[in-house]
Amino acid sequence: MKKKLKWISVGLTALLGLFVVLFILKSEHNNQDSAPIVIVQDTIVPANLLFDINVDSFEVIQSNIKKNEFLANILLPYNIDYGIIDALAKKSESIFDVRRIAVGKGYTLLISADSIKKAAYFIYEIDAVDYVVYDLRDSIVIERKKRPIETRIQTASGIINSSLYQTLQESNANPYLAVKLADIFAWSIDFYRIQKGDWFKVIYEEKFVDDNSIGVGKIEAVEFKHFDRPYLAFGYDVDGRTEYYDEEANSLRKAFLKSPLKFSRLSSRFTMRRFHPVQKRWKAHLGTDYAAPRGTPILATSDGVVIKSAYGRGNGNYVKLRHNSVYETQYLHMSKRNAKVGTQVYQGDVIGYVGSTGLATGPHVCYRFWKNGKQVDHLKEDFPSAEPILPSIKADFMVKRDSLQIDLGLVVIEELKAASDD
Ligand SMILES: [Zn+2]
Repeated sequence: MKKKLKWISVGLTALLGLFVVLFILKSEHNNQDSAPIVIVQDTIVPANLLFDINVDSFEVIQSNIKKNEFLANILLPYNIDYGIIDALAKKSESIFDVRRIAVGKGYTLLISADSIKKAAYFIYEIDAVDYVVYDLRDSIVIERKKRPIETRIQTASGIINSSLYQTLQESNANPYLAVKLADIFAWSIDFYRIQKGDWFKVIYEEKFVDDNSIGVGKIEAVEFKHFDRPYLAFGYDVDGRTEYYDEEANSLRKAFLKSPLKFSRLSSRFTMRRFHPVQKRWKAHLGTDYAAPRGTPILATSDGVVIKSAYGRGNGNYVKLRHNSVYETQYLHMSKRNAKVGTQVYQGDVIGYVGSTGLATGPHVCYRFWKNGKQVDHLKEDFPSAEPILPSIKADFMVKRDSLQIDLGLVVIEELKAASDD
């Protein structure tokens, strides 16, 4: 559609140029004796660019790869012979393997606008950003390029009725924000317990290519009201990565994640006495069960070293981590393990996937926690915050926090409150 409009506008500009020239020529003809000589300047028509190529002298064909469509059946009708197609495929290998050309992906053919109709360029779009240009004019030149990405600051807010994901969708925000927010507040909000009436406002970067959103970038600031308590997060770049702090510059990262799953349902708590669903007898349950669909990633709840990655009859596939001299954690019933004994893992790393191996009735992860060698209920532990913000950058953070607070509208709310108190 856009392309069509572009062509129409180019056509109109050209036509207008022609009229101007004709008009001037005509008036020159009529006033041959008296009129001064008019110097006709070239009408400057802006070059029509597609993938950085001036396409004014080409016929443009844009389409998507169809089933059973390959380089050969696309290029043969446009006078590129098998020999050249073969050479092109070989030459392309180190840049982009043409065997990876996939159904549904966009491509553009630039054809000589003469009677020969020979393909001059073939452009294949790998994704929304990356594309490959095959210049077929003389010797084959192949180049992998990127479209320019534009970053815009966006704001989204909403009151949660069902899930955060759905609320984001309904407010036309990118639902992927839900995952990002769950990451930021992983240490303070249990996203399973999000309830009706919770609300949020988020300021974030969104990346665009030609006005089409291609994804969410950095989250700048969030206010999340959960159980009537406001949670604030302000992004601040430290050593090339974005860390999140609250309004008092406390890190939002705690020593342990609240749960080894991003979205989960707590299905059985730590207890000294419960009726075992498989063994059908009363026994202690020294872990916390989180139910989730099979295959859900299981995350290391803190940095540590893998000390066990094995299969046991009761535990099924399980992984055990040692975090420091005090804490150890274990994750049971995995469908698949993703941890090697002796390797270092970091908080949030995927160490396995939810399953129901061993003694389990359905897919869940049994999360076990040791403190000084004794199994404890991690939900009852009070963990320290991670590293506080460095004193050297705190003042700068506070300046940024102030401006983000204005963007979130927090200052205005405070002022209104103060005004209504008078
Ligand atoms: Zn369990």
